[in-house]
Amino acid sequence: MREFEYARGASLQQIVAGLGANAAIIAGGTELLNWMRLGIADPPRIIDLGGVDGLDRISREGDHLTVGALATLNMIGEDPLVLAHATALGQACLLAASAQVRNRATIGGNVLQKTRCPYFRSEVPLPWGCNKRQPGSGCAARNGINARHAIFGWTDACVAVQPSDPAVALSCLDAEAEVVGASGCRFIPMKEFHLTQQEAAALGSDGAELETRLAPDEIIVAYRIPVRNGARSAYVKVRERASYEYALVSAAACVELDADRIARTDIALGSVAQRPWRLATESLVGASPTREALAPLIQAAMSDARPLPQNAYKVTMACNAAVRALLTAAGQS
Ligand code: SF4
Repeated sequence: MREFEYARGASLQQIVAGLGANAAIIAGGTELLNWMRLGIADPPRIIDLGGVDGLDRISREGDHLTVGALATLNMIGEDPLVLAHATALGQACLLAASAQVRNRATIGGNVLQKTRCPYFRSEVPLPWGCNKRQPGSGCAARNGINARHAIFGWTDACVAVQPSDPAVALSCLDAEAEVVGASGCRFIPMKEFHLTQQEAAALGSDGAELETRLAPDEIIVAYRIPVRNGARSAYVKVRERASYEYALVSAAACVELDADRIARTDIALGSVAQRPWRLATESLVGASPTREALAPLIQAAMSDARPLPQNAYKVTMACNAAVRALLTAAGQS
């Protein structure tokens, strides 16, 4: 048993004041407790967000939805406002885990989960190198078992992917995370919230450690999702079993049609990089929403994929998932 202090914050101000390098936030607990069991985290102080009123609220304010960080995945997946205006997010939440986990897991914690790389998710002492667990020890997956790893944005230091389903939908829907810290409140676009290993390296990390743009003294309090009239969205998840499983690949698409042609579309892919991977979609504007028209355009948008020795299948699978998400959003599937 390891000892730790537990505190339940009654207000955001109290919680932010207690944050720092040695404190961990707990909400649903479905991820932090795993980290502590495996030795991934060993925080001497845990601050519980659950005492803060109103952080689980889902509401519409003008031209955007606000989804509080303590809303559980099941609350979001069943919410009428989400289903009407951010369908892909609701679908992603309901596909994210087992029903028991979805009743505990919060949308604030879900996007901060760590990779499912099996070399990373092992108990100490690790018999192999993993730069995320032991900086400088190498990456066992780079030349080992890497069938479920990245095809975009990786470096030799780490080839892991971010496994969150809701993060993919939030990126596609141009959501922003509202974060609060000691220096106040700010908004981070979800399409930039996570960092690929290449982006982390450019910011001075070794490419394995830094995973998001959230500062250590900040917490996510809500997401702001734009409501666009006429836009419809869908989320497709490809996994090895339908009951509950992490994605091999996934895709969220949002589309606006004009006279049966695509007027605007946004697409984000999941489990292909350490952040939801937005595709360039300018070439899809004016296209007919058919499989024949879309598949070659999406293939071309993915031409910069760099698969590892065991995961070239992800390129085809992600392309097919994106086509299916787009057709579903357009009402064509
Ligand atoms: Fe560790 Fe990343 Fe390599 Fe997995 S891919 S072994 S998490 S460094």
